[in-house]
Amino acid sequence: MLIFEKTVPGRRAFSLPALDVPEELLSNHIEEKYLAKTPPSLPEVSELDIVRHYTGLSRKSFGVDLGFYPLGSCTMKYNPKINEDIARFQGFAHIHPFQPEDTVQGAMKVIYDLDKFLCAITGMNRFTLQPAAGAHGEFTGLLIAKAYFKSKGQKRSVVIVPDSAHGTNPASATMCGFKTVQVKSDRRGCIDIEKLKEVLNEETAVLMLTNPNTLGLFEEDILKITEMVHDAGALLYYDGANLNAILGICRPADLGFDIVHLNLHKTFSTPHGGGGPGAGPVGVTEKLSPYLPVPLVDMKDDHYYFNYDIPHTIGKVGTFYGNFSILLRAYAYILTCGKEHIRKVGEIAVLNANYIMKKLSEDYHLPYKRICKHEFVISASEQKKYGVHAIDIAKKLLDHGFHAPTIYFPLIVDEAIMIEPTETESRETLDSFIQVMKEIAKDAREKPDSFRHSPSTTPVGRLDEVSAARKPVLRWEG
Ligand SMILES: *Cc1c(COP(=O)(O)O)cnc(C)c1O
Repeated sequence: MLIFEKTVPGRRAFSLPALDVPEELLSNHIEEKYLAKTPPSLPEVSELDIVRHYTGLSRKSFGVDLGFYPLGSCTMKYNPKINEDIARFQGFAHIHPFQPEDTVQGAMKVIYDLDKFLCAITGMNRFTLQPAAGAHGEFTGLLIAKAYFKSKGQKRSVVIVPDSAHGTNPASATMCGFKTVQVKSDRRGCIDIEKLKEVLNEETAVLMLTNPNTLGLFEEDILKITEMVHDAGALLYYDGANLNAILGICRPADLGFDIVHLNLHKTFSTPHGGGGPGAGPVGVTEKLSPYLPVPLVDMKDDHYYFNYDIPHTIGKVGTFYGNFSILLRAYAYILTCGKEHIRKVGEIAVLNANYIMKKLSEDYHLPYKRICKHEFVISASEQKKYGVHAIDIAKKLLDHGFHAPTIYFPLIVDEAIMIEPTETESRETLDSFIQVMKEIAKDAREKPDSFRHSPSTTPVGRLDEVSAARKPVLRWEG
């Protein structure tokens, strides 16, 4: 029910004392032509109606604060509440980007330090914190690569992506005016080196890689790959969406990457189930640093300042200095973990994923039988024989109180189910998920018809997904 439907004409959520000045004094300040002809159509409800309405809505949605959320590739980890408190500190939340530098030195220190932290974590030389999400980071990183080759007088027009890549990779390449060439994965789920050789040439600008890739598998030949790409005169782009797997364990720069983006909302704990806002900082090696967006925050005589003097800068890629409150959360998160403990994030994320993978491989087809990193992909190909598909399994999980995993991605696995437990879940939660997945596999064999009406315990039942995407009803016509 929409709040408009709760309207009782004349009902108000406030009461004010009667005017003690003549009414004429208050009106007539706005020219007639700017005034609305009819009053706005607003809901007429009491304060209690509003509170109940929105509290009720909040109870209808699912979030990581409510239950297990194994949405592969999205890193739905628990977001410590202290980060939320810090993001709301008045000294941060109430400042304005146009304030003089002297008055916002604390906020500038956060940007300055976070750049340093991310450099330490990735091995890169310098970060811009402006991009608002991973995809925006990809776009920024590719603009940097483009500017770099242009200044070298090289015409390189091709971006290579593996067939397991996230859809944003080819999309960003296209937005930047590059041509995308796909390279196939081999039987072990990694880039096929022979196939890469075939497509790599003097036209290649960038190879974009996710490592571990979207199958949750580490590119074993990564050093060989980066050498090949560099020998061809091209650059390597690291899609950092899966950084959680290697956090504190290995650094993209040491693997040979030239440009990375990080999804702060994934790896560094910002609530992001609703779609945003996020932050997608981009880090580059020393030779690419002169191309970064302006401004960067630098320090001189114990004073932080916005540095617009970046010789080959690609310009600005966002308003002001990025989604500052997301940067703050990441800053708080990194400091909470500290250098001593941040490695545990990656270790436990990997342990949790392997634990579930092993147990589920008894009931589901596991296309790549290798140790995984922080996530893994199983296939519902066995269940398909009984008419039960990945989507049916995902819907059934909702009835058991779990969020669905990512399904039908990556595209190279038939009936893909991609599971990422993250490091913040307990052994008990993993065990109950495993047990439910085993029950579902049994139901698929014994009563495949029972899937048809799932979910039945959620606020909305089985939706027509195509109509929901193609003809969404977004407007209330009252
Ligand atoms: C999430 C994701 C992206 C895109 O990041 P956004 O922050 O959602 O824009 C890119 N690549 C991979 C592998 C991802 O999982």
